Amino acid sequence: MKNTFEKTGISLLLAFLLALCSVIAGNAQSKSVEEIAKGVYSFGTGHGYYSMFIVTTHGVIAIESINSEHSTAMVKAIKEITDQPIKFLLHSHNHWDHASGGKVWQAEGAKTIAHAEAYTWMKANVGQDMAVPDKSWSGDRKDIVLGETTLEMHYLGMNHGLGMTVFLLPKERVAYIADLITPNRVLFSIVPDFNVRETERSIEEIIKLDLIRLFIHITKRKMP
Ligand SMILES: [Zn+2]
Repeated sequence: MKNTFEKTGISLLLAFLLALCSVIAGNAQSKSVEEIAKGVYSFGTGHGYYSMFIVTTHGVIAIESINSEHSTAMVKAIKEITDQPIKFLLHSHNHWDHASGGKVWQAEGAKTIAHAEAYTWMKANVGQDMAVPDKSWSGDRKDIVLGETTLEMHYLGMNHGLGMTVFLLPKERVAYIADLITPNRVLFSIVPDFNVRETERSIEEIIKLDLIRLFIHITKRKMP
């Protein structure tokens, strides 16, 4: 798998993601854990949503809680791979279908973190399965350094939802991008909660982040 993203361009990477999505769609309800780079894992539960976690020498960083059921299965999967404590759970943006399940991570002792724009909304609109994040960050960029791992968090401005964060692992050349990019198309067909012009600008900025050499990890909602 590692050779794949060293050798190929973006179209092949997206084709791979499409294939991955097809496998998941055809195998609904099944858990999928895949090491996509050294110590970097993709996690899905067969519902079309993917999270990611990074096992470092000083703990685990998890991205995207989705909901309590997904989070509980993901914590179990992490514990099957490592004894390292889970240090952080990072939310990509405020939408309930991505940002629910925070309590599961807080119960594990992880700090849950969202960009200030998402944090403010989540605090004011706590859904049934949503927890107010423990911390927020503001501005355009913040890095999390844990052991040998540096995770960049980029806020590209208004594009989709609130506080949308693009996560980059520069050394591993992996990105986690929720909703802004979907395989084989530009946007979801109904463009829910998107600012189209700003999304276009954000995608151009993402491309500048040396995207051609990155594996793009995408959360994807199954659309009718
Ligand atoms: Zn969203």
